[in-house]
Amino acid sequence: MILHRQPPAHPGMSIADVDTPSLLLDLDAFERNLRQLPASLPSNRTRVRPHAKSHKCPQIALRQISAGAAGICCQKVSEAEAMAEGGVRDIHVANEIVGESKLAALAQLARDVRISVCADDARNVERLEAAAARADVSLSVFVELDLGTQRCGVTPGEPLLTLARKIAASPHLRFAGLQAYFGSAQHRRTVEERRSAAASTAQTANSARALLAAHGIACPLITGGGTGTYLFDVESGGLDEVQPGSYVLMDADYARNETTGGLRPFEQSLFVWTTLMSRPAPGFGAVDAGLKALSIDSGMPLVCGNPGVDYVRAADEHGVLRFTDPGCPLAVGDKIKLIPGHCDPTVNLHDWFVCCRNDRVEALWPITARGAIR
Ligand SMILES: *Cc1c(COP(=O)(O)O)cnc(C)c1O
Repeated sequence: MILHRQPPAHPGMSIADVDTPSLLLDLDAFERNLRQLPASLPSNRTRVRPHAKSHKCPQIALRQISAGAAGICCQKVSEAEAMAEGGVRDIHVANEIVGESKLAALAQLARDVRISVCADDARNVERLEAAAARADVSLSVFVELDLGTQRCGVTPGEPLLTLARKIAASPHLRFAGLQAYFGSAQHRRTVEERRSAAASTAQTANSARALLAAHGIACPLITGGGTGTYLFDVESGGLDEVQPGSYVLMDADYARNETTGGLRPFEQSLFVWTTLMSRPAPGFGAVDAGLKALSIDSGMPLVCGNPGVDYVRAADEHGVLRFTDPGCPLAVGDKIKLIPGHCDPTVNLHDWFVCCRNDRVEALWPITARGAIR
């Protein structure tokens, strides 16, 4: 009998008995975040399309749709496949997809569910058209705008017009609008910095819309925005649809964003559950959650409920704790909650969300799009 890949818990269990390292989802906080996103929007004219790369779990995507979302975003075709398999019917791939096998898979997916994708390159649009023709489907294509972030996108000017016309003239493609996502602005710390980034997004988006209109090209929708800027994006009047992802789970990095001026922060609902496996000296210890259980690209995880303890270093299998309060009573075998630095890549390391309410396990949700990197 193979036991080594069994889930770390079963429903009904006390969280004290959940095996570690594992991912806990606090259902009360999660459900409040689910409701808060649509409620935070000033009018119901703005559509919500949460980004599923944060949670990679169809069970969560379906709950976001029940809470009013038009559909979800994915970043990769294989992520979109996992979501479609899990019952999601409307998926925007908020990214450029390049390469024949990926394009074939994308077009195949469009036979079963509503699919849209981004483009910023004429040759890629030709390959998209060919793949859609071969699969006998119609694909909705958004042109991604370059917002000065030096990642992807075309400049709103002649390159935008040329590409939009090319998409509109492709028999199996539909020009669906624009994507204006200012990724690097999401974690700018002050409200003022994020508000001003959103104002510049809106300016670019609106001038692109006006340019298209001046040339007789209708722009059905402008989509973009993440957890850090979506409210300012809506306030600036640049976007018709917002794509926050992290909001439903949150992480230590997002918690460092300032939320003054009436902004209501989302709650931490995601935790890494870990065991203290060694405390060789009063000032040091090690837990069983290292790089294979959490990601540190956006900083070290925070230790919950133990103010005198810091997670200072991650090795493959170990996390090193420093006890600034040597009298801290934590002993070998005790379990603690960590708040991961960055939710998306942390979730990508786990097979299951262990969903808890009041310290009881209520459900286990499989993270079926984990590892879906293609
Ligand atoms: C990552 C991403 C988002 C969501 O960002 P969060 O910061 O997790 O809210 C939205 N749109 C695009 C295109 C993204 O890449």
